[in-house]
Amino acid sequence: MKRVALLGSTGSIGQSTLKVVEDLPGRLKLAGLAAGSNAVELAKQINLHKPSAACIFDPAKLPELKKLVKTPTRLLSGPEGLIELATMAEADVVLIAIVGTAGLHPALAAIEAGKHIAVASKEILVMAGEIVMDAAKRRNVRILPVDSEHNAIWQCIEGSPNHEVRNLWLTASGGPFRNTPAEDFDKITVKDALKHPTWNMGAKITIDSASLMNKGLEMIEARWLFHIEMQRVKVIIHPQSVVHSMVEFVDGSLLAQLCEPNMRLPIQFALTYPERLNNTLPHADFNKIRKLEFELPDEERFPAIRLAREAGIRGGTTPAVFNAANEVAVDRFVKGRISFPKIWGLVEQVLNKHQTIEHPSLDTILQTDQWAREEAAKIN
Ligand code: NDP
Repeated sequence: MKRVALLGSTGSIGQSTLKVVEDLPGRLKLAGLAAGSNAVELAKQINLHKPSAACIFDPAKLPELKKLVKTPTRLLSGPEGLIELATMAEADVVLIAIVGTAGLHPALAAIEAGKHIAVASKEILVMAGEIVMDAAKRRNVRILPVDSEHNAIWQCIEGSPNHEVRNLWLTASGGPFRNTPAEDFDKITVKDALKHPTWNMGAKITIDSASLMNKGLEMIEARWLFHIEMQRVKVIIHPQSVVHSMVEFVDGSLLAQLCEPNMRLPIQFALTYPERLNNTLPHADFNKIRKLEFELPDEERFPAIRLAREAGIRGGTTPAVFNAANEVAVDRFVKGRISFPKIWGLVEQVLNKHQTIEHPSLDTILQTDQWAREEAAKIN
């Protein structure tokens, strides 16, 4: 039985995690649950799963949560509540599925407490990959990749030494604008960008998928998770989203992991590793998977990949700038303040202003993150 503390339980990954746990009774148990401000949904989850502790980040929602909860669960709030949950004695593994960078401190606290962490929140590895990976090594805990591409690479690479790997190939669906001409990008609305062709996800990652910024974030995430140089992290467009990623070895062999696009599988693999367990997910259906297509991305139309590669190669504080400027740009696009292609323009402008600091401390990263947000907000 593995006991899981789930941070971000009311979101898309959080809800899929609950399904995974419900599908494997006796093997997985929710020891802790945390959400941002959705007290009603969190209370429902607490009443069903009866965790030892739960946290609502927004302290103003704690009284509402207390009224709705019918179990003896310890109820917490605020950043200190999140840390308490991430370090709770009752959990073996902490799954970080909080959107954005709010999961960084809880992730580091969990590592220091000797917990394995399953990471969906790619932003924390983009921002502070070196610090997170070093801390995990020092504390001898595992960083279990939940993002489907990284989970696929992990499944393919298992046990192979780094020098046997030539390239990592991250697959990308190409998003809803794969065939849209660049001259029409200005007309893209928020509604258009929120329609993902193959995945059903939270709003921020859906916009990131449409701009391919999500793939850019994943390139940097892969660089840290698999200790590989940015130049060896490649992207390939694969519209069916059945091949979740591939590893190319030095002998020319290419290993891929395939399954239907459903986050339950990577979440389950991360939580039950090293075991593979039978579940209720649909089996491979070759009548459905008839055709698998691949094409190289058009970096002229979608500059996200180039920007991510450059940010990753510069390293140090630069990926944190890439991430923070993108968060501000997405927020401004969603609020109708900037056009869709301006997301890349804004990120590039902030990157160009930044002086990279190598091997930054956590404080330096947090200051840089703040600086990048302020700079991004100033740009028209
Ligand atoms: P959602 O927007 O659906 O959910 C976000 C979750 O984070 C909610 O539970 C929200 O709570 C919670 N949250 C927000 N702020 C805080 C906070 N300060 N403290 C505690 N909880 C907070 O996002 P997704 O599930 O789509 O994505 C989560 C992460 O996983 C992202 O980093 C994303 O990039 C990554 N990811 C997502 C995939 C997907 O398929 N969705 C695939 C791979 C990675 P509330 O509901 O109360 O606001």
